Amino acid sequence: MSIALAVVILTGFVVYALLLAAIARLRASAHEMFRRSAGNDSNRPVVFITAHPDDESYFFAPTVLAVRHRPVHVFCISNGNFRGVGRVREKEFETACNLLGVQGSILNHKDFQDDFHSYWNAENLADEISKYLSKLRPALVITFDERGASQHPNHISTYKAVQLLVMQNRLPNCTVLKLDSVHSIRKYTGAFDVLFSRSDIQVVSTWSQFRLAQKAYLTYKSQLAFYSLAYIWTCRFMIFNTFTVLQNEDRRN
Ligand SMILES: [Zn+2]
Repeated sequence: MSIALAVVILTGFVVYALLLAAIARLRASAHEMFRRSAGNDSNRPVVFITAHPDDESYFFAPTVLAVRHRPVHVFCISNGNFRGVGRVREKEFETACNLLGVQGSILNHKDFQDDFHSYWNAENLADEISKYLSKLRPALVITFDERGASQHPNHISTYKAVQLLVMQNRLPNCTVLKLDSVHSIRKYTGAFDVLFSRSDIQVVSTWSQFRLAQKAYLTYKSQLAFYSLAYIWTCRFMIFNTFTVLQNEDRRN
């Protein structure tokens, strides 16, 4: 064996060991995060507010799977009709939610349709979200942050509407978390990104949860492209999520 090959193998081993150590540390913190964030009332649900059918699988699956021991709802604003396949995506959403073991609902309002080029009216959307949440009284609400994970205007609008509810104190006794967006280079470093994460609020999947998230993602056959396989193995959102608490001070964003 050449010295160069030995160095490569040794380096790979060290990197792998560091990764496992980081994941173990994050998994330990994940449970504590949800105990603190979601409160002790296990009957009060966790609600994910998303913009399109597939967001729950593409971006939030690690967290969806981590909180399945309590009632979990996904409230999706649009039916993803940007390319005229909204009805197909509704069915795919239903299948994905069944796989993930959560209850899914789609708003599909004419003013909040899937469109990569437009922002939704935050005040009107906040009213719709508020109507939905008032029936559930969730302990924890989870959505995108101000960069929307992928800069999609509909994701950002969803965040803005939830932010408005927080600013107007319309989510009493409820913790609201926003999913941390990361630079695209970090986004595609998979589990290795745990080494660079500084968030206190983190959720890391087990191997079986990771595989289930991939299965839910692959449910969206209408959305699959040549790069989808690369995405499910490289995207950090498939294996772990980090969050920031959405507080009133966030109104400057
Ligand atoms: Zn989306």
